[in-house]
Amino acid sequence: MNFFSTRGAGPVSLDGALRQGIAEDGGLYLPETLPSYEVNSFDGAESISDVAYVLLKPFFARSILKSDIKGILKETFCFPIPTRELKVVGKNAALLELYHGPTAAFKDIGASFLAACLSRLEGNVDLPLTILVATSGDTGGAVAAAFDSRAGMRVAVLFPDGRVSARQEHQLCCWGKNVLSLRVKGSFDDCQSIVKAAMADKELSAAHRFSSANSINIGRLLPQSTYYADASLRHYRRTGNKPGFIIPTGNLGNALACIMAREMGLPIGPIILATNENRTIADYFESLEWLPRKSIQTLASAMDVGDPSNMERLRCLIGESDVLRNRLGVTSVSDDEIKAALRQDFKSFGFATCPHTATATHTWRNIDSALAEGCDWIMVATAHPAKFETIVEPLIGEKIPLPPDLMSILARPASAVSIEPTVDSLATALQY
Ligand SMILES: *Cc1c(COP(=O)(O)O)cnc(C)c1O
Repeated sequence: MNFFSTRGAGPVSLDGALRQGIAEDGGLYLPETLPSYEVNSFDGAESISDVAYVLLKPFFARSILKSDIKGILKETFCFPIPTRELKVVGKNAALLELYHGPTAAFKDIGASFLAACLSRLEGNVDLPLTILVATSGDTGGAVAAAFDSRAGMRVAVLFPDGRVSARQEHQLCCWGKNVLSLRVKGSFDDCQSIVKAAMADKELSAAHRFSSANSINIGRLLPQSTYYADASLRHYRRTGNKPGFIIPTGNLGNALACIMAREMGLPIGPIILATNENRTIADYFESLEWLPRKSIQTLASAMDVGDPSNMERLRCLIGESDVLRNRLGVTSVSDDEIKAALRQDFKSFGFATCPHTATATHTWRNIDSALAEGCDWIMVATAHPAKFETIVEPLIGEKIPLPPDLMSILARPASAVSIEPTVDSLATALQY
């Protein structure tokens, strides 16, 4: 299987696409075709790793990793990804819990797959690959955890001073010697521009062999299609219905993986993108005009994206807004609605959700009745509420118990190096 950039460059193999992250023409890699499946293509696939093996094998066709796909998948799917049925009278609904990984957010899955692949591609090279990650919270922790102590790999995490939660900051700063945690005196946008400038600096880039692990890397996307395949197959086999999915959406990586699974023939019904007050996608579907803008801060901070980069992939794969809006739903949920949903979730489900997940539960409660008719909904739970305890606990009036992995991460010693928001400061920090 070949991969091409959304802007035309290529072909490259999976290995090339994983190493490069972004294509040289500035576009994002997509497989040249998507394989096509039927429900019975997955007969005999019991575990999620079995499903992943059937689903992802064609993408490895030209890869040197082909002989070790099972090993890679075993490392990726090493924690449960359950669908929890909700006991809400008169409704058929469930939560797909993507937060049982080491840093308690769905990004653990993409990051582990990418780390498992890159360490096999790069582990024996003398000069380590340096993964640069600018993070507003969750991405950096997931990538650091996935690459922690791997031979031949180094990670530099850049995060904005004072703008991530205390627990998130700890998750960014408590890793082994191959993870450098950099507290940048600036905003998330500053972190991102330093990373872009460093990657564009040919000399610096060659000296450190820079690569990226944000959601533009196809290695983050592919494994995510697996949990949609697995959850939809289990639901379809049990009930004969194709479930609809409601997905908290920011940069559109998670939702795109679901759309790709549906394109590949998995039994998936309607897909709704739940966004926060960052209305770029919602406005695009309404006005048919793509108008990226600066992001605004909301309670669902990991979805504060004003220019979702995966839209370029979605338009290339499916079409422009006039086509897209017939195939996908989109909602925009305000902070007040998020707060109300967090309270309501706790009351009616009997457990807490996180502010991102709340955009999906709010959407579900307010779904158009014509669309809702006869559809079983699976809402995607993207993070554990204990990561956002300062928002959730006051609303529900209770302490949220920490999941064990998160507890052990928070018990580790943590430290970071402070840098100025310049490429020079990053270069200096990288010398140590
Ligand atoms: C990253 C993130 C999202 C948004 O996912 P995208 O792939 O960027 O759309 C939603 N919820 C949580 C908890 C996240 O960390």
